[in-house]
Amino acid sequence: MFNELILASKNPGKIKELSALLAPMGVRVRSALEMDLPDVVEDRDTFDGNAAKKAEEIAAATGLPALADDSGICVDTLDGRPGVFSARYGGYERLLEELKAHTSDVHPAHFMCVLALAVPGQQTRLYEGRIDGHVVAAPRGTSGFGYDPVFQPKGYKETFGEMDPILKNKISHRGLALQAFVADMGKAAKTA
Ligand code: IMP
Repeated sequence: MFNELILASKNPGKIKELSALLAPMGVRVRSALEMDLPDVVEDRDTFDGNAAKKAEEIAAATGLPALADDSGICVDTLDGRPGVFSARYGGYERLLEELKAHTSDVHPAHFMCVLALAVPGQQTRLYEGRIDGHVVAAPRGTSGFGYDPVFQPKGYKETFGEMDPILKNKISHRGLALQAFVADMGKAAKTA
């Protein structure tokens, strides 16, 4: 296990969530907000490709273990868009506008998250998390970030925007990917 991880992200919402999830493991997280890290161009067309590229470039630049995530919302009605383009798509306002043109009012969707861990000199490892739900007709709640106010996870009455962040962190795509990462770190510690 590492004492320190560089988080290859400048997104305050993601940094807050990942730091909260890693704190109980005694891992100090430093991010691109407090360190001068190179900007990585997210030009791959898969979550895996972008996450690996970000983590590997930051690990190479710092010589330290780097964790990067690539995530997004995939809407069935839109054939999986905005997907890897979620950050550049125009937010939930554009999503709701685009969905108005479709006859169905039910819009199944899922969030995907791929975490990539790059350790200098080692093969990059990938961890995946997914949560299914649907896009609601109008935004609800002010918690979280991005598409949270319009995504209602399956089995819950609240959107991510209305949900207690502690619960969101447990069930979310990012939380699940991180749980897979933590389980793998635990295994590595046992065999070391
Ligand atoms: P990227 O991973 O930096 O490419 O950004 C992914 C984008 O997907 C974010 O900027 C958000 O718009 C959206 N996104 C990813 N995860 C979440 C989440 O947990 N809640 C809301 N929006 C998210």
